[in-house]
Amino acid sequence: FHPETQSISYTTLTRFPPVKLLPPSQRKRVLVTGGAGFVGSHLVDRLMLLGHEVTVIDNFFTGSKTSVSHWTGHPNFELVRHDVVEPFMIECDQIYHLACPASPPHYQFNAVKTLKTSFQGTLNMLGLAKRTKARFLITSTSEVYGDPEVHPQHEDYWGHVNPIGPRACYDEGKRVAETLTYGFHRQDNVDVRVARIFNTYGPRMNPFDGRVVSNFIVQALRGQDLTVYGDGSQTRSFQYIHDLVDGLIALMNSPETRPVNIGSSDEFTILEFAELVRDIVEKVQREDGERPTRRVQIVHEGLPTDDPKQRQADTNRARQTLDWQPRWTVRMGLEEMVRYYKAKMAEGSL
Ligand code: NAD
Ligand code: UDP
Repeated sequence: FHPETQSISYTTLTRFPPVKLLPPSQRKRVLVTGGAGFVGSHLVDRLMLLGHEVTVIDNFFTGSKTSVSHWTGHPNFELVRHDVVEPFMIECDQIYHLACPASPPHYQFNAVKTLKTSFQGTLNMLGLAKRTKARFLITSTSEVYGDPEVHPQHEDYWGHVNPIGPRACYDEGKRVAETLTYGFHRQDNVDVRVARIFNTYGPRMNPFDGRVVSNFIVQALRGQDLTVYGDGSQTRSFQYIHDLVDGLIALMNSPETRPVNIGSSDEFTILEFAELVRDIVEKVQREDGERPTRRVQIVHEGLPTDDPKQRQADTNRARQTLDWQPRWTVRMGLEEMVRYYKAKMAEGSL
């Protein structure tokens, strides 16, 4: 036993995945806002396994307790229902500020609340970072580049965002959150990190959140036609969740204070992507000895307003300053995700 854990019974610890026993000098008190969401829950898993003390605050708007319930009762873990729009006080060394809905149907559900979360929530968390001298990392987004005129998007591009369109609550919310972050950095010496995340997918993504990866996989598994919005010529590049978590932790622990893109540069048109998902679902079904009754078709629906036409991460900065690059191919990641949703369907929760 490490001296710090002597008071914890062995039976308590063996209920959980084996966490690293860090000496107190290396163990960080980490606050993760939005830690019960898709990205947050994977980040929490990694921070816990690395041996840190993790506190999650979440209002459960799009996240759920079950995504982190496997840590409930662990002495290094705490989950608090809290809305970041209200101030929160805690002593901590690092803050990963993720709280914000990320899928277009979710963030457009209550545009004013999304803006409040981005502005007031980030203001509160930066205030906390200032008071505790914690290092602060915000998960910003490729959406700050809007419908980009520069391709691929590098961090010095200022973006092309419609400030009054239906996506503005998210895009402009994140832009002002970045502005606040650098305001506190310049005025108050808050130690900040800004991750601009590109489209990410993986297990625990809400199957009904309306994003393209979850939509296509669920549709294909149910034998329903895949809904491509518009003609499908718009592009995206998709990264797997484990690569993103690697990038976030590397950025937090690096000296880089400029914004850093974390995403894939493997770009697909949405039509190509639909075909790829269909092929992978069919392959997994064949491997599992299942015979689909019919080949799902690709059907077209209206293109949402302000849907960006192209998106690909320029990841040179992440490669140079974090020595980070994605390790999961889209094919590998999609197979994992198809198997995850299949398992959910088999247990009746999808
Ligand atoms: P998600 O919706 O699964 O998770 C967001 C979490 O924040 C949820 O648990 C939700 O309940 C919580 N939350 C929302 N509003 C809150 C509030 N006011 N107070 C407290 N908690 C609140 O989304 P995600 O995909 O996990 O995204 C996490 C972060 O990463 C977000 O900041 C998002 O903008 C950013 N991001 C994600 C992607 C992606 O592809 N997943 C891409 C770019 C940026
Ligand atoms: N999309 C689609 N069919 C769907 C869901 C989304 O064609 O069922 C398209 C959407 O119009 C966009 C792309 O896929 O061009 C990515 O959409 P998503 O909502 O996943 O992310 P974002 O638009 O925020 O990048």
